[in-house]
Amino acid sequence: MRDEDKQAIVDALAGDGEVTFDEPMARHTTLRIGGPVDAWVAPGSVAALERLRAACHARGLVSRGFGSGSNLLVRDGGIRGVAITLRKLGNVTIEKRDADGSAVVWLDAGASTGKVLSFCTRESLGGVEFLGGVPGTVGGGMIMNAGTYLGEFKDVTTEVHAVDERGEAVVRDNAACGFRYRHSDIPPLDVVTGARLRLPSRPREEIDKVVRELRDRRKAREPHGVPNAGSIFKNPPNEFAGRLIEQCGLKGRRVGGAEVSPAHANWLVNAGGATAKDFLELVEIVRAAVVERFAIRLELEVKVVGEDA
Ligand SMILES: Cc1cc2nc3c(=O)[nH]c(=O)nc-3n(C[C@H](O)[C@H](O)[C@H](O)COP(=O)(O)OP(=O)(O)OC[C@H]3O[C@@H](n4cnc5c(N)ncnc54)[C@H](O)[C@@H]3O)c2cc1C
Repeated sequence: MRDEDKQAIVDALAGDGEVTFDEPMARHTTLRIGGPVDAWVAPGSVAALERLRAACHARGLVSRGFGSGSNLLVRDGGIRGVAITLRKLGNVTIEKRDADGSAVVWLDAGASTGKVLSFCTRESLGGVEFLGGVPGTVGGGMIMNAGTYLGEFKDVTTEVHAVDERGEAVVRDNAACGFRYRHSDIPPLDVVTGARLRLPSRPREEIDKVVRELRDRRKAREPHGVPNAGSIFKNPPNEFAGRLIEQCGLKGRRVGGAEVSPAHANWLVNAGGATAKDFLELVEIVRAAVVERFAIRLELEVKVVGEDA
């Protein structure tokens, strides 16, 4: 990145936020993989984000939003342009409480899903129990329509707020977000700044019970102690990607440090020193085997960004 572009980023923040240049993305992905991004920027407010995006746009610098990197594979050559983290914007607040105990809740995009769930549990608000054991931030959760068998963001979200590439604020209602299974139509270059949810009242003990069941179920089935990004592929209609991969005999298959987890075949893990290249090679091996045996092409759930080394 040119020095004048770096200076323009610093000027746009005007002291309200932080920036590091040539930041290794491996520090910001749960897979612990990824080359450097030119600029890693944490605006301190939505106003600073708007100024930053407008300045980037004016200079032809691509900027995009990232959460906690729990659904992300960054290629080994890293990312050209600006990666924006909303880690400084993490508030969760009740905006309105009705007589029946239900509420309208505002979530800043940088709030972690764990914080959202514990806040709502404390306030006896249901509807987000599905977040038990799902890592990430609200921003990433909206982009991905994160969820489990207990539900997904689509079920409870009334509005998503974002800042577009030119630095303009945009508000979308639920229908305009186009939420589907692990997908939304929110444009990939919009940066989500927050979301409004409508949540029903639910006794805290009930919430605790279903979340505990969900967590126990996950603990028994999922790999532990190795960097991963959860499920790599989406489940095809009426099928489980993990079952198809397992039936191809691929559990334990490795390319370099990337491995099909012996614990769960839809989790490709970083078993040690994996590169994005290893990962993408293993993805293609898995896909080819599943196509050959079942004539089903698996679609990636994980988002792949950046350029090859
Ligand atoms: C152990 C483990 C278990 C998991 N289990 C589940 C599960 O049960 N269900 C499920 O749905 N997912 C699961 N996941 C995947 C992941 O938790 C979700 O997809 C999560 O919503 C990603 O959030 P994030 O903040 O980490 O997003 P990131 O991984 O940082 O980003 C994901 C995508 O969203 C974009 N993005 C992120 N934040 C913003 C923003 N503010 N504005 C614009 N774009 C943004 C990124 O550019 C990228 O395209 C799991 C992951 C792990 C590691």
